[in-house]
Amino acid sequence: MTVNVLFAAHPDRWDTYQTPLQAAFTEAGINAHLSPDMAPDMVDYIIYAPNAPLQDFAPYARAKAVLNLWAGVEAVVDNRTLKIPLARMVDPGMTQSMTEWVVGHVMRYHLGFDRHIVNPDHLWEPHTPPLAAERNVCILGMGALGTSVAGSLRGLGFSVSGWSRRAKSVEGVTLHHGPDGLKTALSEAAIVILLLPDTAATENTLNAETLAHLPKGAFIINPGRGPLIDDAALLAALDSGHIAHATLDVFRIEPLPQDHPFWAHPGVTVTPHVAAETRPITASRVIAENIRRGEAGEPFLLLVDRSRGY
Ligand code: NDP
Repeated sequence: MTVNVLFAAHPDRWDTYQTPLQAAFTEAGINAHLSPDMAPDMVDYIIYAPNAPLQDFAPYARAKAVLNLWAGVEAVVDNRTLKIPLARMVDPGMTQSMTEWVVGHVMRYHLGFDRHIVNPDHLWEPHTPPLAAERNVCILGMGALGTSVAGSLRGLGFSVSGWSRRAKSVEGVTLHHGPDGLKTALSEAAIVILLLPDTAATENTLNAETLAHLPKGAFIINPGRGPLIDDAALLAALDSGHIAHATLDVFRIEPLPQDHPFWAHPGVTVTPHVAAETRPITASRVIAENIRRGEAGEPFLLLVDRSRGY
């Protein structure tokens, strides 16, 4: 039987995903009709990415699931016309890419790369950084991405702590949870990494009060989402020297407006939402597996809990 799969994403994505998706469907034994354009009442599954023109899911009466191409679901999770299951993306390629990006930026701060790479006065100033074991890195958000990042940082010898909504355990990582755990998690962190989803509960996780819990001279790396940080509070903490530097990959408005103070601030590195792109080949396999499951009557993987927003 043929399964009708609508590719509802920005038209630019179609060329990138068409071939890997078809290959993954074949690999999974799925006979799929995949198209970016299909009559709504024909659609069995919707592959979805932010910026898709599709906003009204009501006409897709027979669709069994919406399969998000991105890890973050904030663009679709509150859509009131969506009544069918929503699955997010945990893509091994994206996880690896996020881990590499975060580890690179942690090492920049840890080893003090800027000291010699940006040295306009040609100063000869030897500097011995502490060993990784002497530096605590705290990961806010210990999900698919945070856990992978934690494993790599542990492998390098860092002291790693983490914070999540619920209590959990990850080998070699000191974990905190809930509102009370945040203060403890931040209080020892030399470097903070934000890998939380964008939900009502996570907005402004780093604000004037929580930034003050960090030790003076802490570094911040945000590849999560822009709203996780109160921009004004971060700028104030950078200006006062309480925060040494921040690397920000994500912003409340993207592209970051040219007049935003982050661009010009010497304590901020702006990267253009590049930490981890969904990788078409590996992500297509995740999509295909969920369609296979749907057709076999098995539970979908990676279902989003709409009430908690991630
Ligand atoms: P997961 O859903 O696997 O993990 C989310 C983590 O955040 C979980 O540990 C969860 O806690 C925790 N969390 C959620 N809400 C709260 C809260 N209120 N208080 C404390 N902890 C909370 O997500 P992923 O790891 O797959 O992705 C994380 C985010 O990374 C995505 O939502 C996206 O925004 C961002 N991202 C950015 C990319 C980029 O290129 N910049 C690329 C890919 C993703 P618990 O474990 O208890 O559920």
